[in-house]
Amino acid sequence: MITIPKGTKDVLPSESYKWHYVENMAREVARAFAVKEIRTPTFEHTELFLRGVGDTTDIVNKEMYTFLDKGERSITLKPEGTAGVARAFIQNGLQNGAMPLKMYYITPVFRYERPQAGRLREHHQFGVEFYGGVGADLDAEVILLAYTLLTKLGLKVELNINSMGCSKCRAEYNKALKAFLSSKVDAMCPTCKQRYEKNPLRILDCKEDACKQICLDAPKITDYLCQDCSEHFENLKTYLNISNLKFNVNPKIVRGLDYYTRTVFEFVTTSLGSQGTVCGGGRYDGLISQIGGDSVPGVGFGMGLERVLMLMEAENVLIPNEDNVDVFIASSGANANFKAFELCNALRQKGVKAETDHMQRSFKAQFKYADKINAKYVIALGDNELESGIVNVKKMADFTQVECKVDEIVNFKF
Ligand SMILES: [Zn+2]
Ligand SMILES: [Zn+2]
Repeated sequence: MITIPKGTKDVLPSESYKWHYVENMAREVARAFAVKEIRTPTFEHTELFLRGVGDTTDIVNKEMYTFLDKGERSITLKPEGTAGVARAFIQNGLQNGAMPLKMYYITPVFRYERPQAGRLREHHQFGVEFYGGVGADLDAEVILLAYTLLTKLGLKVELNINSMGCSKCRAEYNKALKAFLSSKVDAMCPTCKQRYEKNPLRILDCKEDACKQICLDAPKITDYLCQDCSEHFENLKTYLNISNLKFNVNPKIVRGLDYYTRTVFEFVTTSLGSQGTVCGGGRYDGLISQIGGDSVPGVGFGMGLERVLMLMEAENVLIPNEDNVDVFIASSGANANFKAFELCNALRQKGVKAETDHMQRSFKAQFKYADKINAKYVIALGDNELESGIVNVKKMADFTQVECKVDEIVNFKF
């Protein structure tokens, strides 16, 4: 038997309604925030992610699905949603249109993760990208959009925010952080030993206990913000306050990607036992110019949809299943079979979810099947009914039935 590749998952017909529910809710909330969908390819030139995600990140160093295509070009399956959108923004000259440009995406993303950690190598993300505005009002909108969606999906989340400053104040902070860490490098995990030289900020969100200990008294980036960054951060807090959204300022949040400036945020939940991040994002004013565009500011987030569904299950959120059938037309005999087929098609043209037998079953077996597919109504059509021109329409919830002319079935209110 050929089996599914490691770290991937099937969504079976019996559970796809859960995905529709989450995706429809995401689209609905995006619409309310005046955000339009953008779709970009599943793969891009590898260089885009080297420049756009940053070559000191775990994603780029260890986790990308990179291969040479038949034309010897280095291609990578997208490991996150932002870089592709930024590339499309530049290539299509979207900065010449109306600003800000608010976009969302729903996309598969690919990372070569260790499967024993329960991580998927292909998962799906909903994300938004707002380009063009520098003010903290856009940061707040992005955060509120994520919060609105998570809440509508029935999840209880807490918001952590931080500011990573700009290139100016972060350089100051990096100096202070390196000075603080210089005597402690030996005690760090091997990854953080490398980070110390290239990207010391990332040591702050290392999950290793030794590194967590080391960072307890580390200087806080919020103490090093320049005037502009500090004002931006205060404005963000004001926008969140007037929206009645509670938040914690957590200076340990630095996010895993190199492109963030100023605002970073995470929504966390404890519903799976330990604390976990369900959505993270922030501002990236340098990204577009980093991959070759004009200087256009941006802010956004990514949300793992498998994780959202797992959390909804843990929170016992009831997802409405609309994959039922309005009416099942059971039939017996050649003429009745043709009539049932014809009626089914006529009903479907009117938007009624209709089904009939395709397995040459007995009436009894057809009724059983109608029950299995949650048919709201069942009609039995045989030679007698064809002759009299009258059928019984049976409501499955209470087994009540009403008579209906065969010619009128197509107008019945199912
Ligand atoms: Zn600054
Ligand atoms: Zn570490």
